[in-house]
Amino acid sequence: MARKRVVLTARQVAEYLTHKGLRCPWCGSEWLDPSGHTFEENDVVVPVQCCTCRRTWKDVYRLADIVIP
Ligand SMILES: [Zn+2]
Repeated sequence: MARKRVVLTARQVAEYLTHKGLRCPWCGSEWLDPSGHTFEENDVVVPVQCCTCRRTWKDVYRLADIVIP
């Protein structure tokens, strides 16, 4: 049985980015569980699961700058 693909609305994505990825885009929980990362083309991708509603998604990061420590 094929699993239905879930799509976020533009508003959900904007709110998620406003909260810097620290709140679940569905239920608003701050109890999130990011797990590792992979490199996909020019992005770093981090799978995340909400510990409250159990939904999953992937955060996508791009290199923005470089600084000397
Ligand atoms: Zn949630």
